[in-house]
Formats: sequence, C-alpha cells, structure tokens
Amino acid sequence: MGKQLIYLDYAATAPMHKEAVEAMMPYFSEQFGNPSGQYTLAGGAKRALENARKQIAATIGARPEEIYFTGSGTEADNWAIKSAVKSCRQKGNHIITTKIEHHAVLHACEAMEAEGVRVTYLSPDENGVISPEVLKKAITPDTVLVSVMAANNEIGTIEPIEELAALAHENGILFHTDAVQGYGKLPLSVADGKIAMLSASAHKIGGPKGVGFLYVRRDVKLGSFLHGGAQEKRRRAGTENVAGIVGFAKAAEITFAKREETKEREQKLRDYFIGRVLSEIPYVRLTGSAKERLSNHASFCFQFIEGETVLIMLDTDGICASSGSACTTGQTEPSHVLMAIGLPEDVAHGAVRFTMGGGTTKEQLDFTVERMKEIIGRVRAMSPYYTKFAAREDGCPTEGRTF
Ligand SMILES: *Cc1c(COP(=O)(O)O)cnc(C)c1O
Repeated sequence: MGKQLIYLDYAATAPMHKEAVEAMMPYFSEQFGNPSGQYTLAGGAKRALENARKQIAATIGARPEEIYFTGSGTEADNWAIKSAVKSCRQKGNHIITTKIEHHAVLHACEAMEAEGVRVTYLSPDENGVISPEVLKKAITPDTVLVSVMAANNEIGTIEPIEELAALAHENGILFHTDAVQGYGKLPLSVADGKIAMLSASAHKIGGPKGVGFLYVRRDVKLGSFLHGGAQEKRRRAGTENVAGIVGFAKAAEITFAKREETKEREQKLRDYFIGRVLSEIPYVRLTGSAKERLSNHASFCFQFIEGETVLIMLDTDGICASSGSACTTGQTEPSHVLMAIGLPEDVAHGAVRFTMGGGTTKEQLDFTVERMKEIIGRVRAMSPYYTKFAAREDGCPTEGRTF
C-alpha cells in the first residue's frame, strides 16, 4: 500500500464537510456585513446568524434565544462554570464535577477552587461511568452546580446524563454538560428542562474550528462572559463569527440528518476493529465501557509500551491516532482519565486511541491492525520489562491474551 493518510483521530477534530465550507464562503466576501449594522448589507449577515441559531436550537430541542455562540467548546465550558458559580454565590459555594472531564471543565473548576469555591471531583467506575448514586452522595445544601460530560473524549464512555441531570434538577441545582463529544452522536435533548447548560463545538462534527455554542435555559440568570457590545443579548460581546456560525449550522444539519445511518456504519467498523485488536495483539485491554460507548471510539492500553512511541511509528505509516486527549500530548504524565478509572500507571502509559468518522474504511482499519501488530511487537522486543516477562512465560506469551 502506498503512503496514504489514514485519519483515525476524529475525537480531536474532523475534516470539514464540503457543504459547510461552501455555505461559509459568501460570508467572507459579498455578505461581509457586520450583523449589528443598520443597512441592508448587514441584514443578510444578521438573517444568516439567526437562521443558524434556529437550526442549532432545533438539534437539541431548545429555543433559538437559548443558544449563545462562542469562540470554542472550551469557552462555552468556561462560561458555564465560572458564571454559574458567580451568579449563585448567595445560594452556595460548592460545585460537583468529575475526575474524567476535559481540561476545559477541569481547569475551569480548579480556577474556581483557587478563588475559594469548594469542588468535589466524582470518581467513575472502572468503565468510566459516573453513577447517579455517587452524585447523590456528593450533593450538599450549598451545591449550586453539577457538571458532567455527555461522553468522554479519551475512553468513549457515554454518561447517564439524563438521570444525573434529573437528580440535580430535583435538588434545585444547575446541571451543565460538556457535550462536545456527544453532540451529533447522542440523542441529546434539553426539552424537559432538566439540563440548565450544554456546551458543544463545531470542529468535532465537521464544522470549522473556533466556533462553539452554550445552551442556557431561559430561566438561568447567567452573567455575561465577555463584556463589550450588545451581541448575543449582551452576554457574550464581540462581533459574531458569522461565517463560522453558518458553517457550524450546516455541519449540524448534515450530521443530524444522517445520525442513525452514521451510527450504524461506525459501530460496525468500531466493533470489527476492537475485535481484531483484542484477539490479534496480546496483553491489551479496551479502556472505557464496551457497551455505553461512542459509536466511533476505540481506545486501548497496550502493556509494556509507551503510547507516544507507537504514535510516532504509526505516523511514519501515515496513520493518525492519539495517545489520549490532544491537550495532554507532550506531557509525560499518564492521562487523568485513565488514572481515574483505576489503571496502574504503567498500563496507562500504553494508551492509544483510534476514533473513526466519515472517511474511515474497513481497509484502512485492516492496514492499521497489521501495522499495530508489527509496531507493538517491535517496541516490546526493545522493552527490558517485556523481555523479562516473556522469559518468565517461557518466551512465548500467549497470543490473544488480555490482562
Ligand atoms: C474538544 C473538546 C472540548 C474543547 O472544544 P474546543 O472547541 O476544541 O475548544 C471540550 N470538551 C470535550 C469533551 C472535547 O472533546
């Protein structure tokens, strides 16, 4: 096989849908008006913006006026957490989140902790699931916010956010979900009013980078995040990224129109790939839940190797994968998510994540498995731990064995 690109890192970002790129183009040129302007030219941009808001709102059962466009998923998470805590200061000073959140939530919570807010970080079970029982025990009279992600980016586990949100709601606590990985994949709905805030990002669903949204339930008095002009009902100042927002809405339209079809296709590829890896490579385990799992997500820990080393070798074969979340790349510390699900540190170091999407084919996955078998064998042969281990096992580690 010649050197083709095999992109298996859709959880980090996805290539844009061509239609989304095309939809954006006029807003860079003919329709360049500032949507806040008073003339006809501005009207076109303003209409595009409000149509996009309607389209996005419909995807989660929200009202258009509950959707606020932001500069990223990260910004939406920061806004939700920081502003909710500030606006609830009289009521209480306690946030509940989880140990497996994306850094956008985790570091925002840590920043609040530095300002004197009490934060409880819930532990997941070994599959990465946050159980309602665990949340229930952590709720105190001064809890003002619960933030739990819809699906985890590193291990693909889908969280029971309907139950978690219901529990928070019953106790009069705001519930926020970082739905960046779940949006477009899971049937998320805010229609029953239990979710107070929800974050999503365009570039994870084939839209442009640098655009996100925060859904804020209409009764939630969330303070402004950026102060300035009157955009986004004075809550998020700054001239709107009209082209980006239009591209986001187009990507959402395409993604939601074929959500079921995509899920079926991806699940088949995912299960095929996971099956081959687990049966053909020894000393490997799947991380995250086998059942409650994103349809495009396959993540593993290979014993006796460093995930980073495997990534570099895969890259020379044109294969793009990840060792955890992109944000932790370059750090040598094992992933906080893998530690939270109770993996020993040496095992967590062997993490490799493959996430699939529209461009993924069975042939690409077959090629990837073949390369993985060769690479992992080669890396292990250089590992003194493995050589010692293999010697104990009569130099013949059993094929297909997991640990
Ligand atoms: C990618 C991601 C984010 C950050 O979104 P950006 O738009 O890249 O800032 C937040 N949370 C999760 C779960 C993600 O996967």
